[in-house]
Amino acid sequence: MSDLKQFSDTTRAVRAGIATDREHGAVVPPIHLSSTFAFEGFNKPRRFDYTRSGNPTRSQLAEALAALEHGAGAVVTSTGMSAVTLAVQLLNPGDLIIAAHDCYGGTQRLLRGLSKRGQFEVLFADLTAPTAIDVIATRRPRLVWVETPSNPLLRITDVRAVAAAAHAAGALLVVDNTFLSPALQLPIELGADLVIHSTTKYLNGHSDVVGGAVIAAEKSLADELAWWANCLGITGAPFDSYLTLRGVRTLKSRIRDHLEGAAAVVELLCGHHAVSRVYYPGLATHPGHEIARTQQSGFGAMVSFEVAGGTPSVEVLARHLRCFTLAESLGGVESLVAHPATMTHASMDAEARAAAGISDSLVRLSVGIESPDDLVADLAAALDAVAEFAGVSKPASGVSVAVSKNEPADVILLGVGSIGRELIAQVTSENTAPPLRIRALIDRSGYVFSNAPDGLSRQRLAELSERKAAGQPLIEALGGRAASALEAVREISSHRLSRPILVDATPAETSEVLELALDNGCDVVLANKVPLATEQFAVDRLHRIADRSGRTILHEATVGAGLPVIDTLQKLLEAGDEVLSIEGCPSGTLGYVFGELGRGERFSVALQRAATLGYTEPDPRIDLSGIDVARKALILARAIGFRGELDDVSVESLVPSEFSEGTRDSFLARVHTLDEDWARRADEARRGGKVLRYRAHVTPVSIVVGLAAVSTTDPLGNLHGTDNQFTFTTLRYRERPLVITGPGAGPAVTAAGVFNDLLRLERTRARHRAPASPRVAAQT
Ligand code: PLP
Repeated sequence: MSDLKQFSDTTRAVRAGIATDREHGAVVPPIHLSSTFAFEGFNKPRRFDYTRSGNPTRSQLAEALAALEHGAGAVVTSTGMSAVTLAVQLLNPGDLIIAAHDCYGGTQRLLRGLSKRGQFEVLFADLTAPTAIDVIATRRPRLVWVETPSNPLLRITDVRAVAAAAHAAGALLVVDNTFLSPALQLPIELGADLVIHSTTKYLNGHSDVVGGAVIAAEKSLADELAWWANCLGITGAPFDSYLTLRGVRTLKSRIRDHLEGAAAVVELLCGHHAVSRVYYPGLATHPGHEIARTQQSGFGAMVSFEVAGGTPSVEVLARHLRCFTLAESLGGVESLVAHPATMTHASMDAEARAAAGISDSLVRLSVGIESPDDLVADLAAALDAVAEFAGVSKPASGVSVAVSKNEPADVILLGVGSIGRELIAQVTSENTAPPLRIRALIDRSGYVFSNAPDGLSRQRLAELSERKAAGQPLIEALGGRAASALEAVREISSHRLSRPILVDATPAETSEVLELALDNGCDVVLANKVPLATEQFAVDRLHRIADRSGRTILHEATVGAGLPVIDTLQKLLEAGDEVLSIEGCPSGTLGYVFGELGRGERFSVALQRAATLGYTEPDPRIDLSGIDVARKALILARAIGFRGELDDVSVESLVPSEFSEGTRDSFLARVHTLDEDWARRADEARRGGKVLRYRAHVTPVSIVVGLAAVSTTDPLGNLHGTDNQFTFTTLRYRERPLVITGPGAGPAVTAAGVFNDLLRLERTRARHRAPASPRVAAQT
């Protein structure tokens, strides 16, 4: 194995022992079943002489496990329990072992049994509690025994903290890493001296071997344990070692699939009305979640939850499940379901179980690597049966409830900034459930997708929103995956989706993603102006793809947030009217700033207040540059026949060149130096009976965006607050142009525009969805 040191753990696991057979060049190392090995000559033993003491196949597995756990050596034992037995050989009569009070039942039984016979003393303690450190310091044990996450409530112990306390007290720290495997947790890196495994579980991974291992951080400890393993006769069999090594080769990829399945299952559980509580370290609400985040590289595939109705409900659940087998054990490729009260923890009396937090309603899942879609569908159906059995009905409101019998439409939200988060809040706070479910969130930091029947649950969405508001990446969220937006849309589209709608709430150039989404059957709702204000050919292509695939692009919120400008424009065009010009202010921010200036407020104060109230783009210079207004104007202009590009728009920027460099804050700190000049310009306008406005003037052949002094009798001169306004001069409304005014700046208004589009899209689709039975009736 030494030649593999340079490689990653994944590569080492795959290549352990590969192409090392010198005799025949076998790529996969041959299995050595022989119990004994011939001496090379008299008194000349070879490396292996007798299989209990040493065996080539077992050695290969031991080396692979030591490498994977970042240890100095490993001993492979016949079962997980023999690994535990081996580790406690380090204790002498009178020595104390402090073990987690919720460690594996078999471990507890062994420790109690041996201590009763005077082999050592044992103290069971809650090692997740802050008091654990004091207990270790005062009792000065020889060994401290940790199991994290614990079974079945998945409590998390801070391995670093306990290791430090153990070492300070002169103790060795043992961590049972069975529940996570080295693919997700490396206890030696966190300070453990010994790592225990029931290799029966994830390491072998196929539920066809019972085995164990002890991995030591120090060579001397590994040697001492190897001596005891031989002495006790508890070393692993060659055939089991061979199978386990074969399992280890695929550990990393299996774990990836396990995690994907677990995330999907947790998602479902969190949103299902038959489930009263979910235990999973990946949930932000799970005690120890923060520790798990730092000491694990994934949250594992063991999930526990409580159902309404106690043991009889669990029985109903188990009876309805097809993809989860009712069995003990865990970590295999196949999903298992267990009822701790009647299975793994049946030996505890009801009171002791209750004290340990293990209720009769508790169910434990070992999520396998079957298709997450199948697992979720299977579990959802079984939970629905439980709900019916226990008489639990769906909550009366909320996004998880579909009002129509038809499946709700699936929303994929691109961008979880202030608009995206506001949209989530609006969709999930609806009293009457909209026919929508949010299935996925995508942004630059990754994506989260849920296959649960109700999509991402309200709780998960709230959690994800909070995470994004705190600037944390999606990839670190439960079920978060790394991918570009394009890859995410491709992946998500490979699932069965119901009338999917992609909502683009980013300020980015996303044309490619939108094209892919349209191609994959999504309708598109835009709050993002950029893709419609890029080159004409790109916009044309987008519409062509939409036409070809029979999809719709709605973008009411791209122009004059929340203002039905696009809607009005479309109605005029549909009715055959000809739009001669459109004029107005589509910027709530600039409307507000110039409104305040007209009322005698200082320019800097107005701008700063706009920033404080959240009206400005992240940097107010973006608003002042006029680029945003230019984009909106371009979108409108193109609708009435303008064929130019953004470069053809005449834009007056209000950011003086000396202010274009530097940070947003340094700009805001210096903006008062512009006050005098703005006050003078406002006075000048006022003397002429006018006010200053930032205005877009759009015709089919030209777009001019910039500052204008307009009469106070003009609709634009009368505009208040952050309102947006456009005046349409058309053939039919030439004498008395059509004035449309609506609320302007802020994510809430934009999100409301998007929400309107989503509901409108759904209503149109509902109209087009002819009911199936009448049509059949008409044919007969
Ligand atoms: N450690 C843990 C955490 C376990 O879950 C188990 C078995 O379930 C063991 C040790 C014992 O392993 P085995 O059953 O392979 O003897």
